[in-house]
Amino acid sequence: MRYSDVKRKLINLFEPSKLEGKLNDEWGFLSEFDKDIQTIGYATNLSVNVVDEAARNNVDLLLTHHNVWDFMYDLKEKCAELLKRHGIIHDWFHLPLDDADFGTSAFLANALGLQETQKANPEGIYMCSVIGKCEPSITGEYVLYSQLYAESVGINLLAGSHTNTEIFGVEQMVLRLVTNTDIKAIRIFEENY
Ligand SMILES: [Zn+2]
Repeated sequence: MRYSDVKRKLINLFEPSKLEGKLNDEWGFLSEFDKDIQTIGYATNLSVNVVDEAARNNVDLLLTHHNVWDFMYDLKEKCAELLKRHGIIHDWFHLPLDDADFGTSAFLANALGLQETQKANPEGIYMCSVIGKCEPSITGEYVLYSQLYAESVGINLLAGSHTNTEIFGVEQMVLRLVTNTDIKAIRIFEENY
C-alpha cells in the first residue's frame, strides 16, 4: 500500500476535531515522503536506538506515541537525519491517541477489566486518563510524590513504566492499519524501566 493511502487511513482513525489547529503539536510527521509500505514498526518513543532497530528490521514506516521533545538538545535532528538516511517515514500521535476510544488509556482500562470507567486528566480537548473501580492505582512514570501520597492514603501503587503502559495504544493503532492488508507489523524493542 502506498504511504499516502496508509496516512489517510491513519488520520481517519481519529475524530477530525481532535487533529485540528495548534494542537497539531500533539501529532505529526517528522520524516515523510511517499513510498510503498510493506513493514510498519511501532514503539512508544522515538530515539536513535529505535530508529536503528527499525532500520535493521527493514521498516518503511515507524509509528510512535511520542516525538522527541524539543528540550532534548539535538536528539530530534539526530533522529530526523537517521530516518532520512534509512529512508524511514516517521509519524507520531500523542494526546489524540491517549484520548481515542481504542487508545492508550481506554485499552489499558479494558485490559484490566475496570468497571464504570470515566475519562479524566484533561489536556485541552484531550482526556488523557481514565478512572475505574480498581483497588490499586496504576501509573506509568515512577514519581516519588505519587509513592508518598499513595502510602499516606493507603492506595497500592503500580508503576508500570511510561514506555510499557503506553505501547498498547500504539499497538492498537497499528493493528487497525494493517488488518486485512499485506503490511507486516513489528514491535520495535525499547530499553526501559
Ligand atoms: Zn507518554
